[in-house]
Amino acid sequence: KVRVRFAPSPTGPLHLGGVRTALYDYLFAKNQGGEFVLRIEDTDTARYVEGAEEYIEEALEWCGIIPDESPKKGGKFAPYRQSERRDIYDRYTDQILKTDYAYIAFDTAEELDIIRAEYEAKGDVFSYDNKTRNRLKNSLTLSEEEVQKLLDEKTPYVVRFKMPIDRTLNLVDIIRGNSSVNTNTLDDKVLVKNDGMPTYHFANIIDDHEMEISHVIRGEEWLPSLGLHTLLYEAMAWEAPEFAHLSLILKPEGKGKLSKRDGDKFGFPVFPLNFTDPATGNVSKGYRESGYLPEAFINMVALLGWSPADDKEILPLENMVKEFDLHKVHKAGARFSKEKSEWFNHQYIQLKSDEELLQILKNSDLNLNIEDEKLLKIIHLMKERATFPKDIYENGKFFFEAPTSYDEKASKKAWNDETSTILGEFATTLENTEFISETLKQAIHDFAENKGLGMGKVMMPLRLALVGELKGPDVPDILEIIGKQESIARINNAVN
Ligand code: GLU
Repeated sequence: KVRVRFAPSPTGPLHLGGVRTALYDYLFAKNQGGEFVLRIEDTDTARYVEGAEEYIEEALEWCGIIPDESPKKGGKFAPYRQSERRDIYDRYTDQILKTDYAYIAFDTAEELDIIRAEYEAKGDVFSYDNKTRNRLKNSLTLSEEEVQKLLDEKTPYVVRFKMPIDRTLNLVDIIRGNSSVNTNTLDDKVLVKNDGMPTYHFANIIDDHEMEISHVIRGEEWLPSLGLHTLLYEAMAWEAPEFAHLSLILKPEGKGKLSKRDGDKFGFPVFPLNFTDPATGNVSKGYRESGYLPEAFINMVALLGWSPADDKEILPLENMVKEFDLHKVHKAGARFSKEKSEWFNHQYIQLKSDEELLQILKNSDLNLNIEDEKLLKIIHLMKERATFPKDIYENGKFFFEAPTSYDEKASKKAWNDETSTILGEFATTLENTEFISETLKQAIHDFAENKGLGMGKVMMPLRLALVGELKGPDVPDILEIIGKQESIARINNAVN
């Protein structure tokens, strides 16, 4: 049975890279008919950020990446918050200490500093390896009685992994293929801290085992840990899950990892939702608050590193689930593009019905004092050119309020001495015209013909009078929506 987990640490808001990992976890699990689990890895209390867990859950929900099991929802492997699983870790700490893969280390920071200073004096890079371990007080260098005595005296200690000497490990990654690493390049990582809490490495493999995780799909920053994790599974005599490490998301110019600060620099959000830093009160802008539709956002994110068959680009979540293939995830980094994100949003706005967009606009903070019926017509006319829902309002402001000035260049082009007379007369004929686009179009046509004028001679100044500039949808459509009274008032205003 395929079971995939997303295991964020609540050390801050989820960013683009985190959303992509969660999305690929979800897509792979669902494609395989499996389960998607959210586990909160909060054993590092020093890095804990208030509100980060809630943020992660809310962001995933907004994206439509809904876990089958989570801290909020529960599930058969609950609890899903590592800070609540201490008794499980204690059991496995005892177990690994019985093997030849772990030891109790009593060394102090001062003792370690001395050794580190020796390395530095020689210009070498310090590593906590077998040579270091043999010079310090631990359960490998002391007798059983000495160890017991120190424990009885409540001497602080940590549990460390005993890295085997000179073994070549074969590492298998679904995306990257095979690689190998020699254990001499790895160090004795702390597995359990002196407060008894496991570190990320130990808690992570215990939970992946306990929660029956079949596939670990995570960011490439964890690739250097794969050797240790492989050995931890060996130490516990557990079957390891399969691994897939996702490449980086790169800056728009393609060089270097996209960082949390790049959002400000390039003017796009790097977080799904607004995030208020509890320490500084600073607000980082989110995709949701910037007017992105969640469907467009996750479609954009999915294509940062994966291309579906025949290079289709618009894929709603259900289709992504059907087509997702971990083997087709790119090895190379994926370059973020603000323009592409906007393009996706534009596309998804076109896929929304007018009614859906009406609801979105009414739920926004725009002040729309206009009947739904009219707003629907405006949406219908304006959505084609909208990147964000609010563009419908902003590019169509003239529907909501009369122009207060007339564009100078446009006036020169559209207006001459006779224009006022012509438009004044046209306004009179409008008194007896039914305000329906088709009828209005005919009326403009007839009026121009009677006067022996080209259509443009009437249409252009009319547009200027109604809109204030030479832009917007067809004039008869504008007239219909603005209505008889307001249209005539705007024309008279322009004429005088
Ligand atoms: N807690 C780790 C993180 O925050 C999870 C890494 C993993 O998926 O193994 O990225």
